[in-house]
Amino acid sequence: LFVEDALSAGQAFEAAKEHFHYLTNVLRMADGDAVLLFNGRDGEWRAELSLPTRKRLMLTPTELTRPQPEPSDLHYLFAPLKVGRLDYIVQKAVEMGAGVLQPVMTQHVQGKITSIERLQANAVEAAEQCGILAIPQVAAPRKLEDLLSGWPRERRIIFCDEGHGSQNPLPALQQIAERKLALLVGPEGGFSDDERTLLRGLDFVTPVPLGPRILRADTAAVAAMAVIQAAIGD
Ligand code: SAM
Repeated sequence: LFVEDALSAGQAFEAAKEHFHYLTNVLRMADGDAVLLFNGRDGEWRAELSLPTRKRLMLTPTELTRPQPEPSDLHYLFAPLKVGRLDYIVQKAVEMGAGVLQPVMTQHVQGKITSIERLQANAVEAAEQCGILAIPQVAAPRKLEDLLSGWPRERRIIFCDEGHGSQNPLPALQQIAERKLALLVGPEGGFSDDERTLLRGLDFVTPVPLGPRILRADTAAVAAMAVIQAAIGD
């Protein structure tokens, strides 16, 4: 369960209202039961429930069950999609190991970022569901050109380039030694010719095909992250 509170042995705190309801009414937990908590900073803790009154629930961390890991260093650069699909790709990117979620505004973007807070809440929920302790961060949207002009060259961008034929992407990825990576997937309308020419001309960008068919942007994101994990093994 994700909590905002600091977690350390024996430091009891009162559960937030929504957690009180979830733990007592939904999970039907009682005094003395235990639950696993994380806050994205202090690792994962087993905590004991106590109910001093019928309306108050105290949580007391008792045991560190998993230390706080290093955040994932995979940056996922994505052009915003229509709202429903946007929540989906944020959730899938977190499940597939992205540590930074960077919305990128390109010429053919059809979706828009209505609320970073909402996307961040989706990322927390996805982390909670798949037991990721380091909470991926959703960054503020950036224009593609601005992002590339100040891009740190030691972080290679894997550019999902649907115009790049259908060779096998693995050999290109396996040559990538450095572990600092970013994955760039275009919008439903694809990259413009200017954007594609710009990207293909940068020495810190590796264009990667994902097979001979045109994939939906959300499919491409998941496929690309699976290929990256297969190629670099984490
Ligand atoms: N421009 C495409 C078209 O022909 O209509 C549409 C773009 S596709 C729906 C969205 C994004 O997914 C692309 O910009 C690209 O980043 C990625 N993508 C889709 N299919 C791909 C493929 N076969 N190889 C590499 N990337 C792909």
